[in-house]
Amino acid sequence: MPRRWINCRVIVRVCGLLLLGAVFTVAAAWGPAVPFWLMDRDYRTPSIATNAEIRWWRATVSPAADHEPTYVWRLDHSLVGSDAVSMHWARESAWAAGYRCRFGLPLRSMGYDTWTVHPDASGSGWHLSWHWPFDVHRDGRVRTANLPLTPIWSGFAVDTLFFAALSALILTGWRRMIRRRRIKRGRCPACKYPIGTSPVCTECGEALTVQVST
Ligand SMILES: [Zn+2]
Repeated sequence: MPRRWINCRVIVRVCGLLLLGAVFTVAAAWGPAVPFWLMDRDYRTPSIATNAEIRWWRATVSPAADHEPTYVWRLDHSLVGSDAVSMHWARESAWAAGYRCRFGLPLRSMGYDTWTVHPDASGSGWHLSWHWPFDVHRDGRVRTANLPLTPIWSGFAVDTLFFAALSALILTGWRRMIRRRRIKRGRCPACKYPIGTSPVCTECGEALTVQVST
């Protein structure tokens, strides 16, 4: 078997696992995001902003001003796989507010933000980060759920590797189980063809050392 062909197969397999890991990462972020947007969200628990949240506030909500958030609240009921914070600042008639929501498991991998500044030089109301809104009918009302589309690259990378490794484990286990079952039934573990006395499968050429020794 040419060596290059094996390397190619390994690369394809790793890429496939990483792609699967990325799909699961998105699913693990959107999974908590839907109930999060549909539940009643009360930000009434006073809290302290994390360094990442302060960095986000400075960069996004008030890049031109020197104001820091005066009030920081979190949800009364937190949801697994989500971090949400509400930050506010006010002085006389000026005020700013921001909601920063992060989703994903095991780490937060995708986010969605809303914020506003008054008086705002651009004159627009609430700013919305990249998101995918869709309406859901619930309890006779129409509610909008927002799926987060802004990746948090560090978390996305870790989650992708986590789910890729998990997929590899499950797929390896599954393949091992299938092979063992075929051997038990007197069939080639690779192609399911009935095994004779040959040490090599007459159909696909698979070495049958395991079968011969048992
Ligand atoms: Zn075979």
